[in-house]
Amino acid sequence: MSLPPQAEVPPRHRRTPGWIGLGWVAVLSVVAWHHIPRAHANHTHTGGTQLHIATIHGNNGTSTSPGDQDEQYCVQSRTASIDGTRMANFIEETLVKLSTIWDGTANWRVDLWRASKFCFDYDSATRATIEYEYHIKDDWYEVSLCGSYYSCVVFDNAVYDGYHTHYKWGYSYLQTEHVNSYDTRARKFINHETGHILGLKDPDYYGHCLNSVMHNDLYSSMGCTDPVWYPTANDKNSVTRIADRANTW
Ligand SMILES: [Zn+2]
Ligand SMILES: [Zn+2]
Repeated sequence: MSLPPQAEVPPRHRRTPGWIGLGWVAVLSVVAWHHIPRAHANHTHTGGTQLHIATIHGNNGTSTSPGDQDEQYCVQSRTASIDGTRMANFIEETLVKLSTIWDGTANWRVDLWRASKFCFDYDSATRATIEYEYHIKDDWYEVSLCGSYYSCVVFDNAVYDGYHTHYKWGYSYLQTEHVNSYDTRARKFINHETGHILGLKDPDYYGHCLNSVMHNDLYSSMGCTDPVWYPTANDKNSVTRIADRANTW
């Protein structure tokens, strides 16, 4: 489901007063059976304001520490039912340790680094240097885009780089029920929401079903049946075009 940009009230925010939230939702629904031909279409944001993390265009870290053009993330459980360390380990495994992962995409301009502490354990100045965050909670009523049913991504702190406007901070709000089994389905949600952080979109219309973690059977309501739970070559190509500032279509 793709929703228009909307202003939202931040949940417990430490950073900017004028907060604009933008994002998408993922919904798990019943798998459909009919085959949908795969389109060869773009699924990135284009134009003057693009929803992705601002560091996607660069890579300046080392093999042992992130640079300011890399993507550091922190994890924060906000429910007693999720052990924060276990979830952070699971997210890190999903993003950087399995065989098909987001980490390393676009010649390492996607370079994901887990912050050593939980998000709320940082002072605000240090936390402001962390590019994006995963929060897990039993509902997201305070994030209107997510509500009680959806996981979603919102961005904050728009910056212009001379080419387009993108965002210094991103937030992936995950529903407990989407990730608490620590299984392939949980990885599907984590990889999907991370795809939003990196600039990818949900299906634009019914039957817009690329071979993509963004257009998988989480979107059976849009006719998509692919169970893929990891970023595909198609997804990585799309993110590479964003990083190259070549996503003009
Ligand atoms: Zn989505
Ligand atoms: Zn950008």
